[in-house]
This record gives sequence, C-alpha cells and structure tokens, in this order.
Amino acid sequence: MSSDNAKSTGSNQPSELSNFLRQIIDHDLAKGTYLSRVDQAGKPLPAVITRFPPEPNGYLHIGHAKSICLNYGLARDYNTLASGGRCHMRLDDTNPTKEDVEYVDSILDAVRWLGFDWNHGGQEHLYYASDYFENLYKFAEILIEHGKAYVDSQSADEIHMNRGNFATPGKNSPYRDRPPSENLALFQKMRAGEFVDGSHVLRLKIDMTHPNIVMRDPVIYRIRHAHHHRTGDQWCIYPLYDFTHCISDALENVSHSICTLEFENNRPLYDWVLNALKEAGVFKGPLPRQYEFARLNLTYTITSKRKLLQLVEEKRVDGWDDPRMPTIVGIRRRGYTPESIRLFCERIGVSKADSWIDMSVLEQALRDDLDVRAPRATAVLKPLKLIIQNYPEDQKELCSAPRHPHHPELGKREFHFGRELWIEADDFQTNPAKGFFRLFPPKDGIAGGRLRLRHGFVIECIGMKLDTNNQVVEVYANYFPDSKSGTPDSNNYKVKGNIHWIRTDEAVPAEVRLYDHLFTDAHPDSGDKNFLDFINPQSKDVIQAYLEPCMSTCKADEQFQFERHGYFVADRIDSRPGQLVFNRSVGLKDSWK
Ligand code: ATP
Ligand code: MG
Repeated sequence: MSSDNAKSTGSNQPSELSNFLRQIIDHDLAKGTYLSRVDQAGKPLPAVITRFPPEPNGYLHIGHAKSICLNYGLARDYNTLASGGRCHMRLDDTNPTKEDVEYVDSILDAVRWLGFDWNHGGQEHLYYASDYFENLYKFAEILIEHGKAYVDSQSADEIHMNRGNFATPGKNSPYRDRPPSENLALFQKMRAGEFVDGSHVLRLKIDMTHPNIVMRDPVIYRIRHAHHHRTGDQWCIYPLYDFTHCISDALENVSHSICTLEFENNRPLYDWVLNALKEAGVFKGPLPRQYEFARLNLTYTITSKRKLLQLVEEKRVDGWDDPRMPTIVGIRRRGYTPESIRLFCERIGVSKADSWIDMSVLEQALRDDLDVRAPRATAVLKPLKLIIQNYPEDQKELCSAPRHPHHPELGKREFHFGRELWIEADDFQTNPAKGFFRLFPPKDGIAGGRLRLRHGFVIECIGMKLDTNNQVVEVYANYFPDSKSGTPDSNNYKVKGNIHWIRTDEAVPAEVRLYDHLFTDAHPDSGDKNFLDFINPQSKDVIQAYLEPCMSTCKADEQFQFERHGYFVADRIDSRPGQLVFNRSVGLKDSWK
C-alpha cells in the first residue's frame, strides 16, 4: 500500500499508520470508486468523505476519541490528495426523549478540543440528522409506494414475539400485505398526529425468516408525541437508527462510513435500504459503504454512555467532568492533553478484533507528552517539619532550579533556603529499613542519615521530636555550609539521597486531589458483572500540600511535573491564585497493580 497519503497526525512519536481501513480506502482510490463524483452544484466531491455521528444523549468518552481520531485523521491524511478528504460532524439526533442541546454543545466542544474541526475548503460540514426528517419521510413514502414498507398495527409485544429468535424464524404480521395505498394513508395519518404512541409503526418488508434477525422486517418509524430539542413539536413520528443512518450518509455523500463492530449485523440492512432507494431513483451510485472496527475497551473503566450517565445520576462521581470519569471533559480536567489522547489513539491502532487496552497505555501517552514540556516544580504532599539547627533563624539564602531540565530557555525558578523547611514525611524513617538512604536519626554510635536537599545543601540528621503518640513531629539536622549545589566544593560530598523541600515561611498552601482508578476490577462491566459492584471507594484522596513560592501565581489549567511525584494540573474549575487546587493527572511511573 502507498504511504504517501499517510501523514503524521501531529505527534513526535513514530507510529504504525497502516491499518485495514487505509487499505480499503487505498483500494477504492486505485479503482477510482469515489473519484469523479460531483455535488448538487456540480462541484467535484472529495474521494474520501468520513463522518463522526454521535447521538447527543450524553458526554463523549475516550472510546469516542478513538472514533474521532480515526475519522478525522483519515480525512486529514487523505486531504493531501488532489481529490481531497473531509470528515463531517453529524449529530444523530432522532430520539427526542433522550437528547439535549447540553449534550450537543459538549460534543462539539470535545471534538474541537481534540484538535479537529469540520471546516473543509471554507465550508462548515456540521449536520444534524433531524435536518433530514423531511427527506427521510419522503423516502419512506417512496418505499411504501414500491411495496417495500408497510404500516404494522401489532403491539410492541406482538412484534417482538413474532420476530422469532436465532433458532426460530419470525412470523409474518397480519398487516404485512396491506396494499400500498392503505399504507400510505396510514403513514400520513401517523405523521398528522392522529394516533397515539405505540399504535402503529412503519416496517420494511424484507424477510421474516431471514437468518439475520436485523433483516426481519425492521421497524423504521415509530410514533412519539415528544418535543425535539431542534424540531420542537413539528414531528410526532421519528425514524430509527437503521433507516436514518445510511440515508444521512448517502445525503452527505459519505464514502466510507466507519462504525464499531456491534453494527456488523446491521450492514446488510444499511445496504438494503440504500439499494432500494437507488432502484427507486432516489440515489445514484456509488453508494456509501459501512466498515466496522473494534471499539475501545479500557481497563479499570467503562466506555458506555448509558453507564456513565448512571454514575452521574446516582451521584457516584462528582458530575460528567469528575476527573475520574473517562469522559473527554473528565480526562481534560484530570490533565490529559489533546496531544496525549491523539498519541494514545495512534499507539493503539485500529483493528477488527475486540480487545482490552490497558489503562497504562493511556497514562504512558500522557507522561510522554508532558515530560518534554511540563515545567518542573516542587510540592510537598505529606509535610513534615525539618529544622536545620546550625542555620540562623534570621538568615535566607537564594537557591534556584531550572524550570525544565532540557529547556534552559524556560529560565529558572527561585526560592530560599532557611532554618525551617517542609520535607516529605516519607523521606524520614525512625528505624531505617535496609537500603533507605534518606533521613534517620543517629543511633548506637552510627551517624544519622545524610543527603542532599535538591538545589540546596547537604545535611545530616541529628535527631527528632516525637509527640505523645510516638509520632515524629519534627526532624533535626545540621547543614554543611560549603555544600551548596552548583558551588565547586559541593562535589566533595558524596551522598546517596536527594530530596525536595520548601522553606516553611514561603511555602504556598494548596489542595491536592489524588485520583486512582474508578473501579477495582480491570473489566468492571464484562460478562454479566455489575460495574456498580466494583467502584473503588479509595479513588479520590484530598490532601493539603505545600508548593514552592513561584506557584502562587499559577493559573487554572497550567500543568507541572511535581518532582518525584508525577504530573499535576491546576484544576480548571476550582483553582485560582490564593486558593490553588491541583489534580494529579498521572504518577511518574506505572505504580499500579
Ligand atoms: P455508547 O454505547 O457509549 O452510548 P454509542 O455507540 O451509542 O456509545 P454514539 O454517540 O452513537 O455512541 O457513537 C458515536 C460514534 O462513536 C459511533 O460511530 C460509535 O461507533 C463510536 N464509538 C462509541 N463508543 C466507542 C468506543 N468505545 N470505541 C470506539 N468507538 C466508539
Ligand atoms: Mg449509539
């Protein structure tokens, strides 16, 4: 296959750009399948048109990101061809009772945030399936006239029962042989609002004994006296997915209609509807074709809008944008970047085999993205007071550290050394374990722990103070005045430990939210498991921490590597100067398991 069309999707990582969908597209390009098409105005159409068609009934999640990167990525890569490539944004809004403008807005936001848009050659390709209601209705009438659709007046239960199952063929409806004129009159009355919900449906007349149950006279219209968020009360009948989707694709001249594997059984129906309308003269070839790929399943989380909605409605999380949620708004708030998500989608690739991707792959993509650009900072998450006994109380000493070890152009951050410092409680042990090279008190003639305070001085522990519960409340040390980092004599001190610290009187307090997986089970909704049984009660820990002085002016959404801890982001909703709130996005290494 040619790789000329495959351009990088904007990451600095090598990637395997070939996948079976590219091979299909390349094959179509070689055969000229979708070349030389023109739109209604006679203008040439791109040879590759994809679409991303979410239903606005919830917030997009990381699984949708895979579909977005795939559809928009293909369009962008093939747009280098003379014949072009574009990807439509389509809201599949045909179910009035579950949909809402709130969801529409959040979906459009999420796609843009991921770095994609639907502009092609100066034209916006944003579509709503509800804009096709009139067309869809007209096409249904045409199918009725051609004897390919009928109004069924069985109850929903009867329809369900007579559909049969895998082992038994279905039974024809007693209304199946209504003449077209009667069907047409009934369908018109359905539209006119003369019937109550559930009294009639419109079905395709295919084959009630078809081995594929999807093909057993599928229902394509039902009566729903419901207000629609865009069309208001204009309609009381609504088309179903299998009818709407293929026709929307054809109306938009989509060439490659890419969806997840659960729609594989629906593909014959997709083709049946479009071929029937082609025979009736509604569409000309070449028709769009459906291709399926494996959906993303990510360990320790769920990617189903319905189940995510349940978590929100039952208040098991703090809303759609809870940083533990796999929604785009959630992972964004957690500190994931669009670059890291695109990188993740490139790394996992596209295949036809269902599998689970380990959460660590997503986390690693974020580390790889942030490592090269996130400024470094010091944070003490579990503070313990260290007092430098031989350092005068009224003295200060300026120290500095690079903002980023590989980007000297980002400059330095400055802070002061002093007598009272915060260190991590974990950097001190009363009875040091073997191989612990940090701070511990002297004992039985053996000197106390000696180490370097990063970007500062070498110190040696000389004692500690315990409270009545034998908890350490203060640690004491002496410093070596000629050991300051960056000075010539500092090399005379060879120490194994190196810890971070913050002078107490210039430490900036901050709330830090530490997150863990939302579920304790790697596959919380596989098989017949109930995902609610596996919610991790310890998925969120809120602590009070101290940050180095330069962090006092930090703005929402700014990202840092807190040295020795991981990557953190100033919470986009709650953080402000004077009242800082940070989310841990990901630790420095994969420590889970
Ligand atoms: P859910 O089951 O979570 O409600 P959905 O498939 O109903 O998801 P849609 O809004 O209809 O959600 O999906 C829009 C597009 O995103 C579809 O093409 C769908 O196949 C794709 N998609 C949804 N979930 C995933 C996933 N986990 N991995 C990859 N693509 C997905
Ligand atoms: Mg769906």
